[in-house]
Amino acid sequence: MFEKILIANRGEIALRVLRACRELGIRTVAVHSVADTEAKYVKLADESVCIGPPPSAKSYLNVPAIISAAEVTDSEAIHPGYGFLSENADFAERVEQSGFVFIGPRAETIRLMGDKVSAKDAMKAAGVPCVPGSEGALPDDPKEVMRIANAIGYPVIIKAAGGGGGRGMRVVHTSAALLNAVTTTKAEAEAAFGNPVVYMEKYLENPRHVEIQVLADQHGNAVHLGERDCSMQRRHQKVIEEAPAPGIDRKVIGKIGERCAEACRKIGYRGAGTFEFLFENGEFYFIEMNTRVQVEHPVTELITGVDIVQAQVRIAAGEKLWLKQKDIAFRGHAIECRINAEDPFRFTPSPGRITNWHVPGGPGIRVDSHAYNGYTVPQYYDSMIGKLIAAGDSRDQAVRRMRIALSEMVIEGIKSNIRLHQNLMQDAGFVAGGTSIHYLEHKLENQPGDSQD
Ligand code: ADP
Repeated sequence: MFEKILIANRGEIALRVLRACRELGIRTVAVHSVADTEAKYVKLADESVCIGPPPSAKSYLNVPAIISAAEVTDSEAIHPGYGFLSENADFAERVEQSGFVFIGPRAETIRLMGDKVSAKDAMKAAGVPCVPGSEGALPDDPKEVMRIANAIGYPVIIKAAGGGGGRGMRVVHTSAALLNAVTTTKAEAEAAFGNPVVYMEKYLENPRHVEIQVLADQHGNAVHLGERDCSMQRRHQKVIEEAPAPGIDRKVIGKIGERCAEACRKIGYRGAGTFEFLFENGEFYFIEMNTRVQVEHPVTELITGVDIVQAQVRIAAGEKLWLKQKDIAFRGHAIECRINAEDPFRFTPSPGRITNWHVPGGPGIRVDSHAYNGYTVPQYYDSMIGKLIAAGDSRDQAVRRMRIALSEMVIEGIKSNIRLHQNLMQDAGFVAGGTSIHYLEHKLENQPGDSQD
């Protein structure tokens, strides 16, 4: 096992990794920007190194500074968390070339999955069901493009091979709009991602977002930890996640889960990973793979009892997978609300000093947050300041516990989205379960009264 790990991230996930390391008896190095110097989790780490000024480009994305920090502290491995450099293949390569272990997949796997065209090709070859669409990249010939769209059937979606974060996509409803849409998406993709390659998919009108968590070791073994439903989204950003996904037959999950585990064995996947699917009319359609830990990993941890972050570390240290698929049992239900420093209905960011912070507790409640009384939420980063997670024997119990937890939670001095979550925990559609990815946006459009809050 490693003696010392450098955590190349900030906020709640830095604290989460720190806790996992402490339990494993591993010393930690926190790297931080000037804006995070006073954060408590930085002080909790065994050592800390300032890697640059507040803007991420100069600190959390500053590869030479992070590598130097690992060198001067004699760290053995680097955990990238999520976001920032976690899915940057060049970073993973630099880490390994500098003699450290990257806690994640091999750089070539990250590269393969980072390009959506190559990822989809690899998944198809591995037997994972994909959204019907073009065979790889769209050709230049306009007649061919028209033919492909007609074969798929409208509406179609044009997607950038290098896209991410919900950007670089365009839905097309008629053939008249097709060629213009392709040209515009290509130009945007070139400008935003430096890669003009686009591909085409059938646009699914009312899907759910259901994803499968996997763990794979360096010795060819892989298991799945079941699914998460992350359909409650706004602008492609997840707001609430839960496990298991309401109303989907366990046998269906077992089958798709095994397909994902098998795909990991086929591509030599290493570490924790997530296969994201759209789920419509009982069918799964692969959209992308995330080659890192996800924000929503706690809901899976609470229903399986598996510590996913510790698993990442143990796998990176070369351990053989200690779990067999039959050892993994799913118990009860867990729901996660992402707590953001923002207006609950207008969604404008609300950085600043937290003058009063009180977190709930009691059976089945978990709070993953780096915030505290007097903590200042910096203006430079993502607005997520923590996650409130409720688990119970049934979905109903998890929902009831979440309602109580939300009612106990106090965040003063800044705005938070607690009231949006309180509203959603009472929402008939959410309570029934199984809503589509458009549900929240439609609800927000149809209830402008809420914005007056
Ligand atoms: P990103 O990497 O930008 O997150 P994804 O491929 O994961 O891109 O797609 C993001 C979101 O876009 C999905 O969660 C879904 O809401 C929508 N989307 C993508 N592909 C399709 C499709 N074929 N049909 C309908 N919606 C889609």
